Amino acid sequence: MPTIYLITPTYYRHVQKAELTRLAHTFMLVPNLHWIVIEDSEVKTKLVFHFLHESGLNFTHLNVATPSHYKMDSTDPNWLKPRGVLQRNAGLQWIRDNFDPDHQQGVIYFADDDNTYDIRLFDEMRWTRKASVWPVGLVGYLRYESPVVKNSKVIGWFTYWEPNRPFAMDMAGFAINAELLFDFPDAKFKLQVRRGYQESEFLSQLVTIDQLEPKAEDCTKVLVWHTRTEKPQMKNEDKFKKKGLPGSDMNVEI
Ligand code: UDP
Ligand code: MN
Repeated sequence: MPTIYLITPTYYRHVQKAELTRLAHTFMLVPNLHWIVIEDSEVKTKLVFHFLHESGLNFTHLNVATPSHYKMDSTDPNWLKPRGVLQRNAGLQWIRDNFDPDHQQGVIYFADDDNTYDIRLFDEMRWTRKASVWPVGLVGYLRYESPVVKNSKVIGWFTYWEPNRPFAMDMAGFAINAELLFDFPDAKFKLQVRRGYQESEFLSQLVTIDQLEPKAEDCTKVLVWHTRTEKPQMKNEDKFKKKGLPGSDMNVEI
């Protein structure tokens, strides 16, 4: 049975451990899975280190910091800067260095830390020949986006925004066979890509639209959601401090 390699970029914020917990508890239900977690950080943090070791999952822990001039500001709209680009490339590099395409079978999926995954998605992607695709819920300011399928072939994209992009779908909407990384050894994500074209630029290096394998009952079922977690307010922590009171115990990890 092919191994599923999940590539997850992650960065520190109040909700990080909660996000990673939701993912880990889903991934525990999936056989033959290897979780590659890449921190957007100069160092590997204690939080993620301990979290992964305690998870019981097969994992690889990496880190690479996004250069500061590319980093999102908390006031930037979320589409302004690329997110997770160098981290995903680090994950791809790890697979190129550690996977033997002559003796192993694998499939690669980019599992962002804030999405929500139905475990059946992993059954759908496991036997991907080149690249498989499916709908993604709660994305593109729509209920879902999806490949348009006719006679079990992808013929276009259901999305409002620029449906003529080569692969007009979200990162969560496809998986690739690990062999492709060796057929196309230079394929990677790029920091300087027209906004909304990250997936298109990447997949154009690996496949053509006629090679796509529609999954999830010919792309009629939503098994992954592009959820985005609200940033929690900490204003009462600040109020404690203004009153000269200590606020919450920083030794308690959240
Ligand atoms: N990410 C990161 N560094 C950042 C911002 C995001 O590593 O400065 C990660 C994030 O944890 C997620 C992925 O990149 O796994 C995509 O980011 P996000 O979910 O914010 O993007 P969106 O879903 O809004 O497009
Ligand atoms: Mn996200």
